Amino acid sequence: MSLNIHNISPLNVIRGEGAWHKSLELITKLCKKPLILGRSSATKRLRTSFKKDLLLKGIQALSLDLHHDCCELDIQKAYKFSKNNNCDAIIAAGGGKVLDAGKLIADLLDINCITVPLSASTCAGWTALSNIYTPDGKFIKDVALKRCPNLLIFDHSIVRTAPPRTLASGIADAVAKWYESSLTSSTSQDGFVQQAVQMARVLRDQLFLNGHNAFKDPLSNSWEIVAEGCALTAGIIGGLGGARCRTAAAHPIHNGLTQLSYKSKPLHGELVGFGLLVQLYLEEKNSNSQLPKQAKSQLINFLSQLNLPISIESISLRNATTNEIYKACEFACKNDSDIHKLPFTINEKDLLEAIQSYKSLPITSNLRLK
Ligand SMILES: [Zn+2]
Repeated sequence: MSLNIHNISPLNVIRGEGAWHKSLELITKLCKKPLILGRSSATKRLRTSFKKDLLLKGIQALSLDLHHDCCELDIQKAYKFSKNNNCDAIIAAGGGKVLDAGKLIADLLDINCITVPLSASTCAGWTALSNIYTPDGKFIKDVALKRCPNLLIFDHSIVRTAPPRTLASGIADAVAKWYESSLTSSTSQDGFVQQAVQMARVLRDQLFLNGHNAFKDPLSNSWEIVAEGCALTAGIIGGLGGARCRTAAAHPIHNGLTQLSYKSKPLHGELVGFGLLVQLYLEEKNSNSQLPKQAKSQLINFLSQLNLPISIESISLRNATTNEIYKACEFACKNDSDIHKLPFTINEKDLLEAIQSYKSLPITSNLRLK
């Protein structure tokens, strides 16, 4: 076997009700002057209360607001601020893009990193990976980091208050782990990769069983299983399986679709979920098996239950021209794209046809499970 170096998990994970307060003692051991990073005005009060809690423990926390998706501009600004103020840790509190920015800045400065996901929309709080975008949200690249965060704090009482739309988006992103990894990695001889693919299958089953209930009832046991599945388990799968079992077509399609302009921009998982449907269409076209077709209709049912987009119109591309969508396809099909890990060849034209097959898909009542 060739040599493999892994970043499987944060050093410490504190999860459950009141995890933030439980973490304060540990934070005092990790830093004396951290920088709290965040973005959304909706969570500003929460970040201010974090700062107060830290001050009461004698930790001189500073804070800075990011303004865009995880981009060079914001990263440079926070990097300089942190360096000039001799900050000894980053506490990133927010959604996936804030967490990605915080992890990258801590990595560049070689200081401790604490992630506090404020929703279950992605597994970014867990992984040693940051996605870089332009300030207006066009995907550029992902960057592998030296390590996973030192501490991940997943406080149920906080995450539970996030908009249900963020949970739905996280579910789409997490079910993608199975559909993508099983396609690219099911023939791997590496035991870790095989185990990661199986874990992705179990996670998908749990999300299918509990996803709708979790979406409806944040006080349910289903919510705990689903929220942690999206924000934590999906990260373990990426850590254990590594780059090989991470993506097939859904994520490259997401990356391509972010290149387009939106009046109201879809969330990461919303585009990934749509990308999954496109991937299953491509699989159906390129195989004699009935399985992709069945998986596609099962997934359309599931995404519909969660109010997730299942058509070009519902990802806010009603007015996008064929030329514009073709540009997204060109981005998704770049030479170094993971889309070429599919077990069949694919070009921009195939992808355009697959995306356009989801035009005006009627959402009829028989597509919704009772
Ligand atoms: Zn993702």
